[in-house]
Amino acid sequence: MKTPIRVAVTGAAGQIGYSLLFRIASGAMFGPDQPVILQLIEAPFEKALKALEGVAMELDDCAFPLLKGIVQTADPTVGFKGANWCLLVGAKPRGPGMERADLLKDNGKIFIEQGKVIDAVAAADARIAVVGNPANTNCMIAASQAKRLPPERFTAMVRLDQNRAQTQLAKKANVDLTEVKDIFIYGNHSPTMFPAYAHASIQGKLATRVITDLAWLQGPFLETVGKRGAAIIAARGASSAASAANALVDHVRSLVTPGAVHSVAVKSNGHYGFDANVWAGMPVRTTTAGSYEVITTYAMDDFAKSRLAATNKELVEERAFVADMIQ
Ligand code: NDP
Repeated sequence: MKTPIRVAVTGAAGQIGYSLLFRIASGAMFGPDQPVILQLIEAPFEKALKALEGVAMELDDCAFPLLKGIVQTADPTVGFKGANWCLLVGAKPRGPGMERADLLKDNGKIFIEQGKVIDAVAAADARIAVVGNPANTNCMIAASQAKRLPPERFTAMVRLDQNRAQTQLAKKANVDLTEVKDIFIYGNHSPTMFPAYAHASIQGKLATRVITDLAWLQGPFLETVGKRGAAIIAARGASSAASAANALVDHVRSLVTPGAVHSVAVKSNGHYGFDANVWAGMPVRTTTAGSYEVITTYAMDDFAKSRLAATNKELVEERAFVADMIQ
C-alpha cells in the first residue's frame, strides 16, 4: 500500500466541493492505488462549517477504501499542513452590482493569505491548482506570495473550457469525442479565452479540413464555449459545479500522468505574446508527475493573434487592479 497523499481543498462545503471530494476519495484523481487524506478548509462561518460537517459525514458513509483521513478546519495553517496538493476552489462570489475591481481585491486578500500559508506549511513537493474565480489572477496572486515554492507549481484551471470545446467540435463533426484531439485553451478562464481550433484534429485530420465552416468556428463555436457557464446557469438555475469538479479531476490527473498533453493556465514567460507574469492558459506536456513543459511551437494566424491579444489584455488589466496588493 502506498503512503497516503494529503489533499487540501478550500471551499470544501460549496457546490463544486460537493461533486469533487467524492471523486478524489474514490481514486478518480490520483489513481485506484493511491490512498488520500482529505484536508477540508472552509470559511470561518458557522453555516459553512456545519455544512462541511455534513459533507464529511457523507464521505464517511461512502466507506471509500482509499480515504485514510478527513481534516475539517477553518484554519488554513491546519488545512494546508503537509499538503501535497492544494486545490483552491473557494472564492468570494461577485455580489449584486459589485465591480470587477472590488471582486478582484476581495479575492486578492484571500489568495494572498493562502499563498503565504501554503508556502509556509505545505509539503516540499506541493502543487497548487486554482479554480475559484477569477482563477488566473487568483493563482498569480497566490504564487506571488511564495518564496519557497516556485511559480510553476501554481496552476489555474482552463480544463473545463477544453472539455467543452472538444465536445462542441465532436458534435459539429458528428464523431465520437475521443476522435477530437489537440484542442487547447489559451488565455483567461473567462469569455475572452481562445480555443485554438486551427490546431485541433478530428479523426487524424486537421479540424478545419473536417469542419470547413470557418464562420461557425470563429462565431458560434467560440461563443458557445466562452459563454457555456452562463448558459448552464440560465438552464438549470445553478452553476456548472459538477462539470467544473470533473474538469479539476482531469486537470490534476493529467498533471500527474507523464506524457499527457492538455491545457493549463501557467505562468507566462512571454510565449504566444502573453505578458510575462500573467497566468495564461496554454498547452503543456506533463514530463514527470506534477511537472510539465509548455508547448511553444504552435503557429498562430492573424485571427488567433487578435484573440490572444484580447485575452492577454484582460489578464493584464486584472493584474493592474491588484498590483498594489502584491508588491
Ligand atoms: P462553487 O463551489 O460553485 O464555486 C467555487 C468557485 O469556483 C467560485 O469562485 C466559482 O466562480 C468557481 N468556478 C470556476 N469554474 C466554475 C464553473 N464552471 N462553474 C461554477 N463555478 C466555477 O461556489 P459555492 O459558493 O457553492 O462554494 C464556495 C465555498 O467557498 C463556500 O462554501 C464558501 O464558504 C467557501 N469559501 C471559502 C473560503 C476559504 O476557504 N477561505 C473563502 C471564500 C469562500 P464563480 O463565482 O465565477 O461561479
